[in-house]
Amino acid sequence: MFEKILIANRGEIACRVIKTARRMGIRTVAVYSSADATALHVQMADEAVFLGDAPPRDSYLAVDKVVAACVRTGAQAVHPGYGFLSENAAFAEALAAAGVVFIGPPVAAIEAMGSKAESKRLMAQAGVPLVPGYHGHDQSDERLTAEAEAIGYPLLVKASAGGGGKGMRVVSALAELPAALAGARREALAAFGDDSLLLEKYLDHPRHVEMQVFGDQHGNYVHLFERDCSLQRRHQKVIEEAPAPDLPPAIRQALGEAAVAAARAVGYVGAGTVEFLYQDEAFYFIEMNTRLQVEHPVTEMISGQDLVEWQLRVAAGQPLPCRQDQLQPRGHAFEARLYAEDPHKDFLPATGTLRRLRPPVETATVRVDSGVVEGDTVSVHYDPMLAKLIVWGEDRATALRSLRRALAEYQIVGVASNLAFLQAVAAHPAFAVSAVSTKFLDQNRAALV
Ligand code: ADP
Repeated sequence: MFEKILIANRGEIACRVIKTARRMGIRTVAVYSSADATALHVQMADEAVFLGDAPPRDSYLAVDKVVAACVRTGAQAVHPGYGFLSENAAFAEALAAAGVVFIGPPVAAIEAMGSKAESKRLMAQAGVPLVPGYHGHDQSDERLTAEAEAIGYPLLVKASAGGGGKGMRVVSALAELPAALAGARREALAAFGDDSLLLEKYLDHPRHVEMQVFGDQHGNYVHLFERDCSLQRRHQKVIEEAPAPDLPPAIRQALGEAAVAAARAVGYVGAGTVEFLYQDEAFYFIEMNTRLQVEHPVTEMISGQDLVEWQLRVAAGQPLPCRQDQLQPRGHAFEARLYAEDPHKDFLPATGTLRRLRPPVETATVRVDSGVVEGDTVSVHYDPMLAKLIVWGEDRATALRSLRRALAEYQIVGVASNLAFLQAVAAHPAFAVSAVSTKFLDQNRAALV
């Protein structure tokens, strides 16, 4: 096992990785920008290296600086967290050149899955069902228009390199297509340096169901069940849960098989998530994320496994800690994402000083993953997520009661947050009854804000 690792991230995920490393007796190196000199992740790590100014390109996205920090501190491996450099193949290559292990999949898998179009081609070959659409190389307006007419409306224009909902446009008629293509290209080029697009039929009431997969360096693969992330605002996850409610056993079985086939098809190593849309008892692959996801704790709660520990073991060359038949889901878990954003100002990110920040008391069934403490300042530079609240219960109803209770206990003063919005969502009767579609939050917004 590694003796020392560097965490190339900040906030809650850096803190969360440090906790597991510490438990495993591994020394940790944090990195930080000028905005984060006193941040929790810096305090928690054994050592910390200053990278540069607050803008990510000068600090958390500066490949050369992060690699130099590894060399200087003797870190043997890097955990990239999520976001920032976590799905950056050039970063993984630069680390390899410096003799440092990237705690993530092989470069070829990052590259193959980094393009939604390429990953859909691979998944089609592996026999995994796709959302009907076009993901070909011909990117001319003529071809895209012809394909759009064949798919029908509404359809979704997506950036092939996309993530975080960027470069995505819903098109409800041919007349809207030219502007949507131009807008999506512009946004994709600015965000990802790549303007290739794909087209998908826009499903009208899908659920977002994703599978957690893991591979090791010895050709073993398992999945750690599914998560339902249908509670989204503008295609961004707000509350996630595991397992997915009311999923027919045959569908659950088929999803597991498709996810493992997807991982196998790219020789996947480490933690990955295969995302599907599920509608009318059929599921369709949309993309694979080659990193640990924000919502991984709900999987940890129902599986009893520490996914960061699994990542570290696999990266060090060890086999997967267990076989598929040794994994059994237990109970039900929810995660709510607390953001510094103002629901009354169209969810605009908020800044300021956290004059009061009191999370609920943590227990065996209530977990808070946070990277900030009372007195910290929330700046404009980074993702506005303040914390993740994760709860577990014997069944869905018990877990949901626990979520409501824990949200009611949370106190945040000084910075606008989505706390009241989360409380309203968790209290909504439709959500209590069963699974909802990805459209639910946007359709019920008036009642929730
Ligand atoms: P990103 O990588 O930008 O997050 P995804 O492809 O993962 O984009 O999609 C994000 C969300 O957008 C999905 O969870 C779903 O709610 C919605 N979505 C994506 N594709 C479709 C589709 N074809 N039909 C309906 N909704 C979709």
